[in-house]
Formats: sequence, C-alpha cells, structure tokens
Amino acid sequence: MIDIDALKSGQPRALAKAITLVESKRLEHRQQAQSLLEAVLPATGNSIRIGITGIPGVGKSTFIEAFGMYLLEQGKRVAVLAVDPSSPIAGGSILGDKTRMEMLSRSPDAFIRPSPSEGSLGGVALKTRETMLLCEAAGYDVILVETVGVGQSEYEVASMVDFFMVLMLPNAGDELQGIKKGIMELADALVINKADGESMNYAEQTRRHYQNALHLLRHTSFWTPQVLTCSALKNQNISAVWGMISDFQIDATKNGSLKEKRARQAREWMNKLLHEMLDRKLKENPQVKRLLPDLNRRVTQGETTPYVAAETLLNLLFDAD
Ligand code: GDP
Repeated sequence: MIDIDALKSGQPRALAKAITLVESKRLEHRQQAQSLLEAVLPATGNSIRIGITGIPGVGKSTFIEAFGMYLLEQGKRVAVLAVDPSSPIAGGSILGDKTRMEMLSRSPDAFIRPSPSEGSLGGVALKTRETMLLCEAAGYDVILVETVGVGQSEYEVASMVDFFMVLMLPNAGDELQGIKKGIMELADALVINKADGESMNYAEQTRRHYQNALHLLRHTSFWTPQVLTCSALKNQNISAVWGMISDFQIDATKNGSLKEKRARQAREWMNKLLHEMLDRKLKENPQVKRLLPDLNRRVTQGETTPYVAAETLLNLLFDAD
C-alpha cells in the first residue's frame, strides 16, 4: 500500500512507489492507482506544468539540466518527466535518462522519471499525466515534461501542460527544425538554444525570423507567444526563460485562463479515455470477436453495408451488459 502522508510530505521513495503503481497494467493495480489519485487530487494543481520539445540534438537535456539547476537555486522543487514517442521499435526510453542530466539527478530537490516503457489504456501520455499529479501531490513546484518532436508526442504533451515550449537551433530552416504543421500554433514560446560563440548572430536572425512568423498567426489566448534565445551550455539567458514563464503563470492565474485551460484539458482527457474504454470493451467482447471475421467478409464482399455491420457489433456490446 502507498503511504499517502509520506507521499504528500515529498518522500521520493513513496513517490516512486506510487508512480510504479500508476504505471502498472494489472487491473487491481489500476484500481488501486485510481483510488490513490482520487485521494491526492485535492493536493494537486499547485505546480506550473511546462512542456519542452525539440529535435534530437537541439539541446533538450542540456537545457533541462541548466534550467532545472537554476530553478533549484530559486528554491523550487523540480520534477522532470518524459514522454517518448511511442514506437515499438525504440522499445525502451530515450528520454528522461538520468545520465543526460547528471547534476540535476543528484539533487534531492529534483525528481527525474523516464517514460513508462509502454502505454496501455490512454497510452504513455496518460501515465505521464497521472505521474504529474503524483509529483504535484508530493510538492514539486515545477513539472517539466520533455518529449522529442516525433509522431504525436508533442501534441500529447501540449495537451497536458500549462506552457508549451519548443527549443530550436540557430540558423536552420523550418524543415531542419522539424517543425510540423500545427506546432507553431501550440507553442507559447520558441527558445533558440545554442546562442553562443559564432552562432550568436545566427540565433538573433532566427529569433527575428520566428518573431515575425508568429506575429502572422492568430492567437486565441491572452498570451502572445515569445521568442527568446539562450545558451544552455554556457548558462546564458536561462533566467529570462523562467522570467517569461513566471509572467505567464501570474497573468494566466489572475485572468482565470490557467484554470480554464486545465479544466478543458481534463474534459478532453475524459472524452479520449471514454472512447478508448469503449473500443477496448468492444474488442474484448467474446461475441464481437466471434462475429467480426464473418462481418468483415460480408462487408468486403458487399453482402452488407458497413453501417449495418458496425451497428450489429455495437448492439452486441450493449446487449451483453
Ligand atoms: P537533446 O538530444 O535535445 O537532448 O540534446 P543534448 O542536450 O544532448 O545536446 C546535444 C549537443 O548539443 C551536445 O553535444 C551538447 O553539448 C550541445 N549543446 C546543448 N546546448 C548547447 C548550447 O547552448 N550551446 C552549444 N554550443 N552547444 C550545446
């Protein structure tokens, strides 16, 4: 059993145990995890949740190390979670690896957790979302959710954080930056990393380029996305990144948009889960399993319409209950 008081007092062992429970796929663990989450829910929501993405090599781990250390100096407790792009080939975790953030991982006020190795219901992103709540209950003030800009993972991360940040390289076109359609609209900030040495000027040019590009986008929120430069390696301008995010946090709290955004994200998750649960029930239903091959064949051969076949299967699900 998880000691909730130990978890709430921020004991890393209790937190790690709780996360293991949340990540378990066993049904009984799933149920225990949900009761635990419900129990700690009132103690959650007090952090700022920051998503960080960017192509491999842009400097994510170097940035998180520098940014995390800066936050620790400000007296914050920092949790770093990772959402790996779900790939059966990649298998294990490529992010959130402690060796990538050596100093941070040695600090007692930082907690680093790699991606769960695979997601079941709701995917890896659900586990990360639940882990985030546990970290908040354990008193972490800043949650950094890291992902690589591959597949759907950035969209998933953007949908679970308050502030979404894309790290970029100086002097590279949109294509090289791996910028996908829609990501610019999601970003609350673009941070051009490696603004040091000979890249200083390029970084400034790139900053201006994106500043202009962002101005052309229509913004739906009160917040105008910012473009900053920094050097994670040389520890330059890291404080400006935090300054920007804390400005956002103060304003978004004051005008209610933070609360609204989180409520919307929670509703969207509920909806997504509902669909996944329905899908799973359908696939696990023995009658559906039995009838499916025949219905597939009949649809293929034009003996029945896809609509009628789908309805037949759905009725089996509800009749069975
Ligand atoms: P990730 O794959 O996005 O996590 O990138 P890493 O943090 O592993 O960094 C990739 C490479 O870029 C490493 O060799 C870093 O030392 C280097 N790097 C990261 N940040 C900076 C920076 O601000 N300036 C310079 N010059 N190099 C950097």
